[in-house]
Amino acid sequence: MGPYQTDEFGELPIERAAEFAAVPDSFQRLWTPHRMVYIQDGQQPEKHACPFCLAPSMDDEKALIVARGTHCYALLNLYPYNSGHLLVCPYRHVATYDEATAEEVAEMGSLTQTAMRVLSEVAHCDGFNIGMNQGRIAGAGIAEHLHQHIVPRWALDSNFFPIIAKTKALPQLLGEVRADIARAWPKPERHQAGV
Ligand SMILES: [Zn+2]
Repeated sequence: MGPYQTDEFGELPIERAAEFAAVPDSFQRLWTPHRMVYIQDGQQPEKHACPFCLAPSMDDEKALIVARGTHCYALLNLYPYNSGHLLVCPYRHVATYDEATAEEVAEMGSLTQTAMRVLSEVAHCDGFNIGMNQGRIAGAGIAEHLHQHIVPRWALDSNFFPIIAKTKALPQLLGEVRADIARAWPKPERHQAGV
């Protein structure tokens, strides 16, 4: 028997929200329990299997990389909150911001600035959320390898249905979005193959 007892009609009981301790706010919530696979114990990759360590060894197109710097690089998030959601990572497998070198911190900053300019030009977004989740407890999906999120925002983009629509269309959109951003990225920071 499962953990939940059905009622006489075979339905799961509905528990009243008012019976739980909580502070209501103005946010609507889309529950995504399937994402727990990324944050459960034992799911953190070893360095040899770390996606942010492996990506730079792959083609830009396959790894969704939009720009490569000297110490850090920028790629599209495979699990975007919004279309054009970029991540900036150091090449080194370090977990937290205070472990990054001064050069890595400086280039994370400059790549983040360039990402904002490029996304403003390409995607005409109205704003950004920028930040780092440090540690699994803070929501980092890949907690062992430092990465900064750059999420473009548009007015009303948190409406439920556009999120669902984008989710359906993502496999095609990611490649197109990557190409648009990489094309608009200033050339001095773009990786020159074989140089
Ligand atoms: Zn890594």
